[in-house]
Amino acid sequence: MFIEKFRVESPNVKYGEHQIESVYSYETTEVVHEIRDGTYQWVVKPKSVRYQFKTDTHVPKLGVMLVGWGGNNGSTLTAGVIANREGISWVTKEKIQRANYYGSLTQASAIRVGSFNGEEIYAPFKSLLPMVNPDDIIFGGWDINSMNLADSMARARVLDIDLQKQLRPYMESMVPLPGIYNPDFIAANQGSRANNIIGGSKKHQVEQIMKDIREFKEREKVDKVVVLWTANTERYSNVVVGLSDTMENLLAALERDEAEISPSTLYAIACILENVPFINGSPQNTFVPGLIDLAIRRNILIGGDDFKSGQTKMKSVLVDFLVGAGIKVGITSIFSSMVGTWDHPSFGIFESDLFNLQPTSIVSYNHLGNNDGMNLSAPQTFRSKEISKSNVVDDMVSSNGILYEPGEHPDHVIVIKYVPYVGDGKRAMDEYTSEIFMGGRNTIVLHNTCEDSLLAAPIILDLVLLAELSTRIQLKTEGESKFHSFHPVASILSYLTKAPLVPPGTPVVNALSKQRAMLENILRACIGLAPENNMILEYK
Ligand code: NAD
Repeated sequence: MFIEKFRVESPNVKYGEHQIESVYSYETTEVVHEIRDGTYQWVVKPKSVRYQFKTDTHVPKLGVMLVGWGGNNGSTLTAGVIANREGISWVTKEKIQRANYYGSLTQASAIRVGSFNGEEIYAPFKSLLPMVNPDDIIFGGWDINSMNLADSMARARVLDIDLQKQLRPYMESMVPLPGIYNPDFIAANQGSRANNIIGGSKKHQVEQIMKDIREFKEREKVDKVVVLWTANTERYSNVVVGLSDTMENLLAALERDEAEISPSTLYAIACILENVPFINGSPQNTFVPGLIDLAIRRNILIGGDDFKSGQTKMKSVLVDFLVGAGIKVGITSIFSSMVGTWDHPSFGIFESDLFNLQPTSIVSYNHLGNNDGMNLSAPQTFRSKEISKSNVVDDMVSSNGILYEPGEHPDHVIVIKYVPYVGDGKRAMDEYTSEIFMGGRNTIVLHNTCEDSLLAAPIILDLVLLAELSTRIQLKTEGESKFHSFHPVASILSYLTKAPLVPPGTPVVNALSKQRAMLENILRACIGLAPENNMILEYK
């Protein structure tokens, strides 16, 4: 059964006029390596930590400023939100289609609340805590191309034409602010788009972005702003000691107008100095150590990197399933020193090399025909994407020491080809080869065709809504005297990103189900509910 909303009644939760307060007992385990009976042993000690949460229930009027507003994602998201807000429907060749928020965790997914008369009761994810209604978001932002949003939507060739016609009047007057352009950081093929740019020094550019945010806030009368990068993938910037390694060095480098500070890092600096959260939806290393340092010291939320929309989302489910099922997937062939042929095998000498041969792999192909696909055809920008797509299985692989030797790494190949014909309708082709019982082989092949921006837009929405919500939550353990916000490096957003940014020294979790459980369970804790443990003991 599905219910729209609910209220928790418990001594652990208090709904006040302005906030929800909860007490939560965090049941966890501590692992120690200690000498017992004269030898080192692994000892696991369950422990219970009492937490208090405080959530501000005032839902602000939210402004969202997108960097790359006029791109496929930016225009598709803006169009989608207007269509929902205005209740627009349109005719397709199959049916009358109504606007919806499918693909959004916050708007279109459900959580289990409990059972009633033997039936499971579910409620919308968004009913957990008061969240901004996406229909009420005011959009703005920057783009190095001056095209208005109605024309950008047409250029993107994502939405049905009947829908575009209805949306045009709402979007014609939306024009992106000039952006920070540095041709050294994106592909040369983007040069012809750059007709709307902020000149001057890097320091001036940062000041201009800060001014833009203040003016947007004032003009649109919004209480809060979140900025999100959905502009083109940049190349990695070189992390240089003395330049981008600490907050002081980064800010000094800005004063000196150093060449190696990327545009995305400049936007992020501006946001942090303006006390505005910044999320990076692309793979590049916007968050150089100096920037992370700045965000931590000013306690401003940063989140990223790279939207986890299609192929990687699937991978973080499939590899979790395979490794979790005890199936060995995707390991590098140890082939280098093998000589001899099958006619003349040199088993005696090279036996160990031959028997270490693991013909298992994950190979991912992408055919992408949109503008960022063209941008990714340059080796430097492709490299950023390759890195962010590559590490996604690491935690799952290292979790199973029965299948994998320490240090074994997946034979994980990523290919992206620019195929203009497919436009935004990306083709993702994956082959997972794994080893099953008694040396058997298991090959899974996936072919996915999907409009890239229709996958990314709801994720952008979730990122900004959850980032905003998480800035309204405060917590403390029993040992702490004062409440504090979550760590500014927002690992709570991991579910939505390919290469989750986590605070220094924190484990990265890539498995999708774990990421979702983490997010849902933290929000449940804020209303005094136990984590979803799926035990269903009532029926055992
Ligand atoms: P797009 O090329 O259609 O849009 C990017 C926009 O950014 C363009 O309008 C461009 O003019 C603008 N731009 C470039 N540099 C800028 C700058 N420095 N300042 C301001 N504007 C700038 O690309 P898209 O398909 O909308 O994708 C956007 C980003 O999202 C890409 O980096 C892509 O890798 C990332 N991403 C997309 C998906 C997806 O499924 N669509 C998934 C993961 C990541």
